[in-house]
Amino acid sequence: MVSELNELRARVRSFLSTELASGGFTPRCDSWLIGFDPDFSRRLGAAHLIGLMLPTEFGGYGGGTAHRLVVSEELLSAGAPVAAHWFAERQFGPSVLRHGTAVQQLEWLPKVIRGEVCIAIGLSEPDAGSDLAGVRTKAEKVDGGWLISGTKAWTSAAHHADAMVVLARTSGQRHVGLSQFIVRLPDSNVDISPIRLISGEHHFNLVTFDAAFVSDSDVLGEIGNGWTQAMQELAAERAGPERYLSTFPLLDELVRGLPRDSPSASEIGRVIADITTFRSINNKVVELLAAGDTSASEIAMLKGIGTTFEQETVGIALDIAHEPGNTTPLSPSAMALLREAQYQAPGFTIRGGTNEVLRGIVSKGLLK
Ligand SMILES: Cc1cc2nc3c(=O)[nH]c(=O)nc-3n(C[C@H](O)[C@H](O)[C@H](O)COP(=O)(O)OP(=O)(O)OC[C@H]3O[C@@H](n4cnc5c(N)ncnc54)[C@H](O)[C@@H]3O)c2cc1C
Repeated sequence: MVSELNELRARVRSFLSTELASGGFTPRCDSWLIGFDPDFSRRLGAAHLIGLMLPTEFGGYGGGTAHRLVVSEELLSAGAPVAAHWFAERQFGPSVLRHGTAVQQLEWLPKVIRGEVCIAIGLSEPDAGSDLAGVRTKAEKVDGGWLISGTKAWTSAAHHADAMVVLARTSGQRHVGLSQFIVRLPDSNVDISPIRLISGEHHFNLVTFDAAFVSDSDVLGEIGNGWTQAMQELAAERAGPERYLSTFPLLDELVRGLPRDSPSASEIGRVIADITTFRSINNKVVELLAAGDTSASEIAMLKGIGTTFEQETVGIALDIAHEPGNTTPLSPSAMALLREAQYQAPGFTIRGGTNEVLRGIVSKGLLK
């Protein structure tokens, strides 16, 4: 297993160095959310580096959580533009495999594995973020399908997406009244409006459904099982190295440019030691996930402390950039990464569940 993982890691590195040498991408911070490049995703798919956990019968690698971890670590630390396929591979593919019909699996999984499909995740609403079970978007049964009405907020990449997985209310019961639907986009009854960052950039959206029709064949899983399915997806969302490597390309530039006698060297050393610790926790978390334990408090812990660390890295880079007497200013590429990381950093500890909410999950786990 170890040699197989090492071989896989070497293969990703070789792919990335060829891409870098040919100008295939420019490293970015937070590349899994803002590095949107469908051509890169297709090239990665063609190199069989997407769908690590999906079965070979659909074209996947047929590996496990450890295989996906190795590939993700390499892609993220290189700042590769993986946003176009990230949600499709991380949440949607495994969910379709677990809960989808044979027809849905045949339609979607090969496209996910080839890096050809962009999926948006429709959980949060203007009045239901941390309190996700308070979702109000509703789905009403009609002949042959469902009519979806309501509003989803902060939906990353919805303006690029081929489909959006929508968590909607199919009955009044708080948890068992929720179901998931695959809404194909674009749709004339679905309005997608940008929510812009302070920089003017457009990554997420407000999505309004006005009696949008979804056929019965696009229900994902059982009606009433949406809460359980969404929690499984959230565990996968929180458990990866994107929770401590979003700012790694910046860190990499800092280390390369820092003189040996810099007063910041010890600070950088501490940061690198922290990453080593996160990797150990992540290895443990993937074992838990592989064993099907999606509620483990270790997952919430990794996401909470990992994203806090990512934010701290930005602070350290700023200190270095403005260090009194610093005669070796940051390179233009480091400054560009720093600016990008500054814009993205506030969202690190909010997306996928806020730190306050994660601390609640960890403490409940400790009290078990
Ligand atoms: C960059 C980014 C991308 C995103 N992408 C998506 C996406 O693609 N799809 C999607 O569905 N969502 C997405 N989100 C939304 C994200 O999941 C929510 O913002 C998050 O879950 C918090 O919900 P909220 O914004 O409604 O805040 P609220 O839930 O209103 O929370 C407001 C404040 O109250 C605190 N709080 C709330 N409840 C508790 C509690 N029980 N105990 C202690 N404190 C509490 C929170 O910690 C927070 O500080 C994204 C968010 C960001 C920032």
